[in-house]
Amino acid sequence: MTPRVRAAVEATGHHGGCAEIGALCRLEEQQVPIEGAEGLAVHVAGGSQGYGPEVHGMVKPFCPACEKLFDYLGGGTMK
Ligand SMILES: [Zn+2]
Repeated sequence: MTPRVRAAVEATGHHGGCAEIGALCRLEEQQVPIEGAEGLAVHVAGGSQGYGPEVHGMVKPFCPACEKLFDYLGGGTMK
């Protein structure tokens, strides 16, 4: 995990297990500011939560942990 993402994860008590965390790390690795980042969560078929192909790619709300973390960064869900 990249340093600023780790700091945000620790500050918000995020469990770190979401795809959003990896995405933020990739931004930071590319020297893109993570502050104000916007994310979009989608259902992924065949993942750990067992979604089927019928919902693959459908937008879903951030989980509460991500909601808090993106709030902390001053970002949010893409509109
Ligand atoms: Zn999440």
